[in-house]
Amino acid sequence: MALTGLQIFKLLPKTNCKKCGMPTCLAFAMALAQKKSSLDDCPFASDEAKTALAEAAAPPMRQVKFGAGDHEVKLGAETVMFRHEEKFYSPAVVAVTVSDKLTGDDLKARIDAINALQFERVGQQIGVGAVAVLNDSGSADDFATTAAAVKESCPFAMILVSDSADALSAAAAKTADAVPLLACATADNAEKVAAIAKEKKCPLVAQADSVEAMAQLTEKIQAAGVEDMVLSLKAVNLKDELYALSQMRSLALKKTFRPLGFPTLSFVLKGSAEEQSARGVALICKYAGIVVVETTEPFAILPILTTVMNIFTDPQKPVQVEPKLYPIGEVTKDSPVMFTTNFSLTYYTVESDVEASRVPSYILVVDTEGTSVLTAYSGDKLNEKSVADAMTKYDVANQVNHKKLIIPGYVAVMSGKLEEATGWEILVGPRECSVLPKYLKEVV
Ligand code: SF4
Repeated sequence: MALTGLQIFKLLPKTNCKKCGMPTCLAFAMALAQKKSSLDDCPFASDEAKTALAEAAAPPMRQVKFGAGDHEVKLGAETVMFRHEEKFYSPAVVAVTVSDKLTGDDLKARIDAINALQFERVGQQIGVGAVAVLNDSGSADDFATTAAAVKESCPFAMILVSDSADALSAAAAKTADAVPLLACATADNAEKVAAIAKEKKCPLVAQADSVEAMAQLTEKIQAAGVEDMVLSLKAVNLKDELYALSQMRSLALKKTFRPLGFPTLSFVLKGSAEEQSARGVALICKYAGIVVVETTEPFAILPILTTVMNIFTDPQKPVQVEPKLYPIGEVTKDSPVMFTTNFSLTYYTVESDVEASRVPSYILVVDTEGTSVLTAYSGDKLNEKSVADAMTKYDVANQVNHKKLIIPGYVAVMSGKLEEATGWEILVGPRECSVLPKYLKEVV
């Protein structure tokens, strides 16, 4: 938690020597509290003051990374309980399991199924971000062999899951360059797993069955020299797990309780695909950083990924598409032209309805800073000038041999001014774009 100006003042020499450029130590303390100065500007600051300020400035939740290259996963570094307070920084990750009992074609089929769990949604790619290798066999050799095979054929960050420190050691030895996440360190094996994590430079998962036990365990692991960890609760039911995850988040962020200031991981390995999906969505909402599921059913994975996408979108920055002229289908010089805004949800809704019409068309996307048609119009971001400017910028006149522009029905009131500004005939389209297919077939 940040220190107040008065708290900082108590740590300063109080000699008012002015070497920092401020008239008094108090003025300097106030400037520091507002992050307008650096403690380095005071040549007489004590080590105690430097340590206290550095600790106060550290983020309440540590950022933890695992995986390598383009598929490195970044977790944590969150600062708020609720998205609307600021935003969430590190999108939660969905991981799918691979058992080390699988071999040959069965193992290949499982990995292929996991690799295929990628989707496009409102113009963005979303998908599984990690694979969790389970030591179901109980054999350290089989676990290490499967982990090595997964590393070769699956690009995602890897989580090694075993109760045995020996098995984790064997698998980590074969995959250390992929920086796997080692799961789990418990009260019984914390020193051994921490030693492996330290040697291989990998983060680990600390697992305990209560919030209190978790705080003790993380301090034990830190004492063993490991700072990068992810917390996992052995919860008996969803209600208890959600409650404990919320409690840990609150203690970490609101009370700056460092022993719980780490991202979290939840295992969702039981139940039908539907149940795993529903449980995964609930856990992502409050506050799982990684959800490990067993199912590879796309219908079960997509709702979890959609939840991640929605929750981790910056509420101050709506998802936007690039403003430009989009040809939909095999357009010709006679194709109709319409415009919409660059709010992704609006654009992709219009695009899918134009595609459904099977009438090749142009959609001109006007930059309205990611707002929808009515919001942009009422905020004067969508007006005759912005549309006319976009038509000029994207050279619409030279793409077709007509001068007819279809506008959204909700902004029919723009017709007159738009006609004057562009010289084009304005056709008022439907209010709801679901009517576009019928409109395009009948009117254009
Ligand atoms: Fe106070 Fe340090 Fe500034 Fe001198 S340099 S006035 S001791 S804060």
